[in-house]
Amino acid sequence: MKQEQTENLQQLLEHFENTTSSSELLFQLKWPGGFVCPRCDHRFAYTISTRKHPLFECAHCKYQASLTVNTIFEGSSTDLSKWFVALYLFSTDEGTTAVRLQRTIHVTYKTAWLMLHKIRFAAGHKDAQQLLSGVVRIGAAFYGRSFHSSYEGHPEEHPILIGSGTSSQSPHEPGYIKMRVVSKEHMHHRRILRSGTQAFLKKEVAPATEEIRTVTERYSEHRFVHLIKHVGHASKWINRTFHGLGRKHLQAYLNEFCYRLNFENTSTQEENLMSNLLRLCFHSPRITYASLTKRS
Ligand SMILES: [Zn+2]
Repeated sequence: MKQEQTENLQQLLEHFENTTSSSELLFQLKWPGGFVCPRCDHRFAYTISTRKHPLFECAHCKYQASLTVNTIFEGSSTDLSKWFVALYLFSTDEGTTAVRLQRTIHVTYKTAWLMLHKIRFAAGHKDAQQLLSGVVRIGAAFYGRSFHSSYEGHPEEHPILIGSGTSSQSPHEPGYIKMRVVSKEHMHHRRILRSGTQAFLKKEVAPATEEIRTVTERYSEHRFVHLIKHVGHASKWINRTFHGLGRKHLQAYLNEFCYRLNFENTSTQEENLMSNLLRLCFHSPRITYASLTKRS
């Protein structure tokens, strides 16, 4: 870890030793406009301060809300200060592995793995709500074995559709980017069927989009080289950091890559990646180990 990163991490942990200020920060993230009851939307609560982080009892329906209700942290027995370290490492340029997180915060590998996947889930949850619009370009590329020239697809080669949306006023600005692993039902050997691009359009592109162009043929001279190069970058990052991946969790890692890329391309100066990620995690629903590991 770089010297500068270590110092930031130390500051972060010291900040979290001070429990009062961490509860205040969590409150701000959870309810930026003031308390809202998760059950009845009432705006006034009594504070119950018998635990490390307070509970908020709704003055109307008596529901007791914790600061982590309806967030990815809900139900986790891992201390929030450890979660913050995970978010910090996740927000560094290269991201982090479960092994590195496990060593840094002294939890089991399974816990570290689950924490990182919950954060990826939050990134994917936001990405699913953001539809491409304006001038939309869609291309295709493969993750895994490359330059394999047979007609049949290789079992370790995974087709990916990538789309970008930019406003028609500034079509040359880097736009919002999405990547989706194409399911096998939409493939014929190594070719992505029309049903595959249709599914992508239906799910990822806003209905009133000005202009859509799709080029998925592998060797077409019209393919969007500037767009599909991102899949190459994502593949390199996955192989460098995680030493390759199977199909099952590939989408989660692509979500992480796109989250970082889109943040760089669209963020304003005022916010850093860590605070953006924190807000995201406070506004994504909880996800369990069982649903993360179920067979896809
Ligand atoms: Zn209530």
